[in-house]
Amino acid sequence: MTRERLYLYDTTLRDGAQTQGVDFSLEDKALLAEQLEGLGLDYIEAGYPGANPTDTKLFLQERKRGPAKITAFGMTKRPGRSIANDPGFQAVLAAKADAICLVGKTWDFHVDVALGTSLEENLAGIKESVAAVVASGREALLDCEHFFDGYKDNPAYALACAKAAYEAGARWVVLCDTNGGALPEEVEAIVAEVVKHVPGDHLGIHVHNDTDNGTANSLAAVRAGARQIQGTLNGLGERCGNANLTSIIPTLLLKSSYAERFETDVTPERLTTLTHVSRILDELLNRAPSRNAPYVGESAFAHKGGIHVSAVQKNPRTYEHVPPESVGNQRKLLVSDQAGRSNILAELDRIGIAIPKDDPRVGRLLDEVKEREAAGYAYEAADASFELLARRIMGNVPQFFDVDSFRVMVERRHNALGDLVTVSEATVKVRIDGETVLSVGEGNGPVHALDNALRKDLGRYQGFISDLELVDFRVRVLSGGTDATTRVLIESRDGEGRRWFTVGVSPNIVDASFEALLDSVNYKLLRDGAPAS
Ligand SMILES: [Zn+2]
Repeated sequence: MTRERLYLYDTTLRDGAQTQGVDFSLEDKALLAEQLEGLGLDYIEAGYPGANPTDTKLFLQERKRGPAKITAFGMTKRPGRSIANDPGFQAVLAAKADAICLVGKTWDFHVDVALGTSLEENLAGIKESVAAVVASGREALLDCEHFFDGYKDNPAYALACAKAAYEAGARWVVLCDTNGGALPEEVEAIVAEVVKHVPGDHLGIHVHNDTDNGTANSLAAVRAGARQIQGTLNGLGERCGNANLTSIIPTLLLKSSYAERFETDVTPERLTTLTHVSRILDELLNRAPSRNAPYVGESAFAHKGGIHVSAVQKNPRTYEHVPPESVGNQRKLLVSDQAGRSNILAELDRIGIAIPKDDPRVGRLLDEVKEREAAGYAYEAADASFELLARRIMGNVPQFFDVDSFRVMVERRHNALGDLVTVSEATVKVRIDGETVLSVGEGNGPVHALDNALRKDLGRYQGFISDLELVDFRVRVLSGGTDATTRVLIESRDGEGRRWFTVGVSPNIVDASFEALLDSVNYKLLRDGAPAS
């Protein structure tokens, strides 16, 4: 039986980025796009060119083309203007993007109140705008704002907008529940009407989660015929969030009523990266992952209590609706570390370390990771620190250099101009090749000063680290018990644009930072094959 193709459209980097307190850098966006592409998303809506400097810059960059269609977001042309005379529209058209998604009004009430134009002119604007995108050689999408509310008020007009876009050549007409108030039975009934006018393989669904029905509404639209689902990782989005792709994707693959009918580009193998991708977003946002998130949460497959645990051990299907490994998560039992062991083996495999299952070093690594995680380390997003730790226990990390000691001073004073300034100075004592080197560095903060001091003179390794750059620095204070512990995550990059993450933990923020910094330097030396001293 041939299955129908469903298309997955991620808008974490655009709609998700509109969330309060979320501010993705160019590097964050590139990293997330890479992860989403690896997962098998068909479309990645990366931003709104012209709306802010980051997004404008992003869409001016050439990118290496992958399988996902990088999509720019914009608005249909402004009423009363030609396309040539609409700078906002031109900024979107100028984007280096594979597809362009335009938001347009389809609710007569909004056309009148918000746009202040006639229904006819709005309809003509939709047609012209979609046609202009098609003429530019890109795939066009119309995002029908407030479609469901519009349909309830004036079905003929909402439908006319959808049809106008389709007839003008839109690859997708996306039905939006912009305020998130629609219920699954309404979505299913309305989409079933729309497919009589616009074919389902040209219809998308974009919903928000304001009644906690984001996943249910997306699935309802698919049942009624829509073939593109829009959403975000972890349901990130303003107010209560967007439809959560982290829940929708595994449901499509693992639940037979969908898996038998539909296929996507997310293979079962790619699905095993889902938990990892979800946690990377949390780390970038400096948020603790939601423990009870469906499929990917730490508690999603946690079993406590004697009867549950022994039943799950006999047959996991007794208390689990899907196998945790299918989404890259792990079973948590309080009486056995088997699950942890298989997780470690999977991680080792991912970073290319082949080792027999029963090698005693696997157990040692597991114990070490457990101990460190209890102390506050998190390796989900700190791949480089995990790899260093694993390779150290496997016995194949050379000793490059030793840090004997470091000292940092922070001074706040008035400078010659009378301005209040804070300056930091660090001294690091390093031993390389039997020699002790004392280096001093200055910086605008203690970590910056330490970084400068450490990298001032690393002897024979200087050439290996000259292109190492610290891109980002995230701090989280973990409150466990009476003492607060600080976790620092450092993102580094080299001259070829490769990025890696390292972690440090200490009650002292400078100490935690230095640990992450040392891991970053050691990882670079290891990866680039620097010789032992
Ligand atoms: Zn939205």
